[in-house]
Amino acid sequence: VADNAPLVIIGTGLAGYNLAKEFRKLDSERPLLMISADDGRFYSKPLLSTGFAKGKEADELGMQDAATMAAQLNADVLTGARVTAIDPASRTLTVDGRSQPYSDLVLATGAEVRSLPWRDALGERLLSINDLTDYGQFRAALQGRRKVVIVGAGLIGCEFANDLRLGGFEVTVVATDPWLMPQLLPEQAAAAVQAGLEELGVSFHLGCGIESMRLEGEGLRVRLDSGVELVADQALSAIGLAPRAALAEAAELAVGRGVQVDRQLRTRDPHIYALGDCAEVAGLNLMYVMPLMTSARALAKTLSGTPTELSYPAMPIMVKTPACPLVVAPPLTAQCGSWQCTGEGSDMRALYLDDSGQMHGFALTGTAVAEKLQLTRELPAWLG
Ligand code: FAD
Repeated sequence: VADNAPLVIIGTGLAGYNLAKEFRKLDSERPLLMISADDGRFYSKPLLSTGFAKGKEADELGMQDAATMAAQLNADVLTGARVTAIDPASRTLTVDGRSQPYSDLVLATGAEVRSLPWRDALGERLLSINDLTDYGQFRAALQGRRKVVIVGAGLIGCEFANDLRLGGFEVTVVATDPWLMPQLLPEQAAAAVQAGLEELGVSFHLGCGIESMRLEGEGLRVRLDSGVELVADQALSAIGLAPRAALAEAAELAVGRGVQVDRQLRTRDPHIYALGDCAEVAGLNLMYVMPLMTSARALAKTLSGTPTELSYPAMPIMVKTPACPLVVAPPLTAQCGSWQCTGEGSDMRALYLDDSGQMHGFALTGTAVAEKLQLTRELPAWLG
């Protein structure tokens, strides 16, 4: 098959571009083709949930355009192009109906937002933000509007609540979750974050489902199953992400919580790899920047001829809720155990301990975030 065909990376998010950068440090010659359904601008996705406080337009968050990236990476960057099929047997892709050979293929296709059932009916009044284009669209939809309902109290919903409030909007968060970020935090730590956001002026309706959302006048009416009705100008959906694994699945690659790869980031096809939000690496689907940077460095070595096993240290996540600083290391290595919380008010220290007293995770709020480095040293590696 096509050994003179390029190395192809699908996706120009942080995973795709960081892999390309790391790869070029080790191999400046091998033909490299990057393909993206979006416009291929290089940007830092975490900045999307700090843009309202800083008053940044989408264009101000885009750091380099596709042509600049292509020149920098000595690569071809194909934009506005969607890959619709992979044929592992012939090592070809279908891109917008055209056939494209590859020597090795990397899936860096990210994750897509889960959507609420009212999305089509509400049009631009109900949006989500998962890339630069979404961010620009949301900013445009907010023109002349003030009251925002955020659906979802996970990490992204909470970050946008803080950011939109700092940007001058009235913010109400609605979620079925019993407390903020329940996948990451014990109740006491979540309460500290909630209190910080409330002090800033954010309102919460937790433990409530949405019965209906409908357009009313220029805005929206949201009916909760608690009977409460909210009136808002705009809704933002932040109910979670699902890895984009359909291409891999159709090509009969293994898919679980993402495209399953081993510690060399390799699928069961020896020429197809995956990293970033779309990948389940040795059982872990971690949709954060640090794991994808670590993966990019290891995979760059493997693709340039030095097969390299990935290891993950514990990598705590700094949550961007300045109303109550929060850092969390989820207890990924624990078989069993429980949260032990100490502290007062906004300064909580929650440690996840197993029966033998070994710590597997932590959540620190307020002034307790200062303990991050020291506690991180005590955590077992996520992938040792
Ligand atoms: P993406 O950036 O989603 O890139 C996917 C790429 O694949 C895109 O270029 C897309 O066009 C392309 N693509 C997909 N399917 C196809 C196809 N069929 N054909 C062609 N191209 C395709 N993480 C942290 O660690 N810290 C934070 O503070 C933080 N804040 C965040 C704030 C927000 C608002 C969000 C949404 C996420 C945040 N994250 C944070 C998570 C982090 O940003 C992501 O883990 C990371 O950006 C994922 O990068 P990716 O390259 O895997 O995916």
